[in-house]
Amino acid sequence: MARYEYDLIVIGAGSGGVRAARMSSSYGARVAIAEEKYLGGTCVNVGCVPKKLFVYASHFSEDFVQSKAFGWAFSDTKFDWPTLLENKNTEIARLNKIYQDLLDEAGVDRFEGRAKIIDGHSVKIGSRILSTQKILIATGGKPVRPEFPGAAYTITSDDAFYLESLPARCLVVGGGYIAVEFAGIFNGLGIETELSYRGDLFLRDFDIDIRSTVSDELSKKGIKLRFQSEIESVKKSSDDELVVRLKGGEVLNTDMVLCAIGRVPAVEGLGLENVALDQTDNGGIVIDDNFGTKEKSIFALGDVTDRLQLTPVAIEEAMCFSSTQFGGKPRKMCYEHVPTAIFCQPNAATVGLTESEARDLYPEVDIYRSVFRPMKHTISGSDEKFMMKLIVNRIDDKVLGVHMVGSEAGEIIQGIAIALKLGVTKSVFDETVGIHPTTAEEFVTMREVIAN
Ligand code: FAD
Ligand code: NDP
Repeated sequence: MARYEYDLIVIGAGSGGVRAARMSSSYGARVAIAEEKYLGGTCVNVGCVPKKLFVYASHFSEDFVQSKAFGWAFSDTKFDWPTLLENKNTEIARLNKIYQDLLDEAGVDRFEGRAKIIDGHSVKIGSRILSTQKILIATGGKPVRPEFPGAAYTITSDDAFYLESLPARCLVVGGGYIAVEFAGIFNGLGIETELSYRGDLFLRDFDIDIRSTVSDELSKKGIKLRFQSEIESVKKSSDDELVVRLKGGEVLNTDMVLCAIGRVPAVEGLGLENVALDQTDNGGIVIDDNFGTKEKSIFALGDVTDRLQLTPVAIEEAMCFSSTQFGGKPRKMCYEHVPTAIFCQPNAATVGLTESEARDLYPEVDIYRSVFRPMKHTISGSDEKFMMKLIVNRIDDKVLGVHMVGSEAGEIIQGIAIALKLGVTKSVFDETVGIHPTTAEEFVTMREVIAN
């Protein structure tokens, strides 16, 4: 008889956990998965998917305006939040069911409830204690709550997906992906939107031209950007307004404050005190390059390790973990050339090194950049501009980084990421025939070095 009931218990049925459970099972492992809230995790329920649906919804407002220059006429447009919310919730429910079916069809035992690690080989879910050879922690993260007085009046992105009604005004706090994306969503849905960021310019780790172009474009669309701005307190007035006092004394009135100031690993109540693994200062589980922890039978991947918090990263990590542990084919995750997009409006996307990273690493770099009005806006009436940039190592001609702000930037950069993984040179970009008329062709027609 087997020593343990399972070969693997996965804690958390999000992007990483579900993939690890399914793949490990497909290699013949006996697998169970525990989920306390919702199948599909953050991405499906309060992340990528509902966010992108909201981005689509919010974009229609400027499409309606611009369509008039293309001959369209209509008397009125009206946005109904409950309709969007209901359709979004229906889609999420459909996806939850798909995740359930995928796990069931893969022969993974599902357990609903919070899982707690008892020791290196046992996990408690509700009143049951299951024994297992290996444990995979894939519990993801949760939003950081601010600490200023009145923080209880603020919401996080989790709440933003279930608002009962839309406010007239909103202040978004933060300068990362979520703050910038939600500022665009709210603005597009007709909310008077301000964004407050503590530094000089938001999107700190992105290329400088992405940061400045996104800043310009968001401002043009009417979002009031407050940089070097920090919240001191939030109070509720007698007529239900939120009164926000900024450090420095300025006061502003709004109806909703969304704090998007980062996410921390979800490790509370996980029973980590019962085992001996290392954690980072904010709780992230420390792993080696096989996702192993100091506790030999316990592994971790995805957001709970507090590294790159992206769905495709968690999924690829899960593929490597399963292949190594149960597939007989050890695989290491490659974190080079991970592309990413910010779904602001217009989108921003990037792969490879930023200009400042490239300059730190290589003695001679050439910068190619194009800032232009896309063809649609020659008659749409919009003064939106796109930005495309290539960073090249002059010594061996290798393309080190590609950055873009423009519609469908994520779709375009995804393809370019493949070329960068293959070690593409600038000459290959130059020899590639464009598709005309597209925005993407700009990447193969940039010839002038604008800085080196
Ligand atoms: P999660 O998907 O967070 O899954 C963890 C699961 O574990 C959850 O379901 C949780 O309920 C469960 N759990 C936690 N503790 C326990 C426990 N003790 N017992 C049982 N279950 C437990 N990434 C992108 O690539 N593109 C995007 O566009 C994008 N947009 C985002 C938008 C928002 C608003 C947010 C918040 C995130 C976004 N992300 C995006 C990031 C992406 O969602 C995460 O990187 C990804 O979901 C991480 O997957 P994971 O498996 O590590 O964790
Ligand atoms: P980020 O880490 O991207 O950004 C956090 C922002 O909050 C930064 O601007 C940071 O400022 C600021 N901040 C941190 N602490 C404070 C504080 N105490 N007071 C005021 N401001 C503060 O986190 P997000 O919450 O935006 O998103 C979490 C993660 O989810 C992202 O890192 C990303 O990996 C993932 N995600 C991915 C998306 C995508 O792929 N499109 C979309 C949404 C989320 P500073 O820069 O000065 O440190």
